[in-house]
Amino acid sequence: MTDLYPAKILDKKHLAEAQVLLAIDVPREVWSGHIYHSQYVSLVLPDMEPWHGTIACRPGYESLEIHVKDVGERSARISALEPGDELQVTTPMGDGFPILGHRSVNVILGAAGVAICAMRPLIQEIMLARGDWRRVMLFYGERTADRFSYIDERQDWKEMNIEIFLTASQPSLGTSWMGQSGYVQDYLLELWPDVGDTVAFVAGKDDMVTDFTHALYRLGMPPNSIMLNI
Ligand SMILES: Cc1cc2nc3c(=O)[nH]c(=O)nc-3n(C[C@H](O)[C@H](O)[C@H](O)COP(=O)(O)OP(=O)(O)OC[C@H]3O[C@@H](n4cnc5c(N)ncnc54)[C@H](O)[C@@H]3O)c2cc1C
Repeated sequence: MTDLYPAKILDKKHLAEAQVLLAIDVPREVWSGHIYHSQYVSLVLPDMEPWHGTIACRPGYESLEIHVKDVGERSARISALEPGDELQVTTPMGDGFPILGHRSVNVILGAAGVAICAMRPLIQEIMLARGDWRRVMLFYGERTADRFSYIDERQDWKEMNIEIFLTASQPSLGTSWMGQSGYVQDYLLELWPDVGDTVAFVAGKDDMVTDFTHALYRLGMPPNSIMLNI
């Protein structure tokens, strides 16, 4: 285990069904190591194995945001933290997504479930200098309508000309859904965007990442234009 640093919950927002966004106050040793988009940290509570979370905000802040989906014992404990609660955190790890090395191109972002948190830092970066990237398409899948997060922020994303394509894979299990049904990779193939001069960033569970990547190949993207994270 790498060194641990003291941290404190600053703020907590409800994002969607069983999902919260925690803002965490961390010391300089931690935030100064947040260099790449979508790196991750380990969060540690007493009597609990370290829990990995992707940093859901772009680098450049003196705090971290972590999007937690409550799916099991550790994520339930992290989700239950409240402002003022203390924990320990590692420095940021992983190579993240090299968005800054790919400007003046079209961008395809593909995420399913909580992995949308790995796309948010990229979107925040693109919004800072929107003219530096061309067409930006976000494919975001959830199982049901009530699981889509960042409802308010998505409006800002759209206003910055980020095209958002939502799809629910099992809409009948949740609240009413009038949008696209199925998997993100099928939606991508249905739209069949031009992938000339395009870079793609993909995050999600293994099956989704594999299937979305294969869909990008079918569109004609070369492997070295497809970046994977979690
Ligand atoms: C590099 C990295 C970054 C990660 N970033 C995040 C993040 O930003 N936010 C986040 O919420 N999680 C993230 N995870 C996953 C997280 O670390 C835990 O693995 C997850 O929360 C399950 O831990 P748990 O102890 O609560 O549940 P466990 O007891 O380990 O698992 C409980 C059950 O939930 C299932 N499960 C695990 N993950 C999911 C999921 N995403 N959706 C549905 N079911 C699931 C498991 O298969 C198991 O059946 C990341 C993992 C890695 C390796």
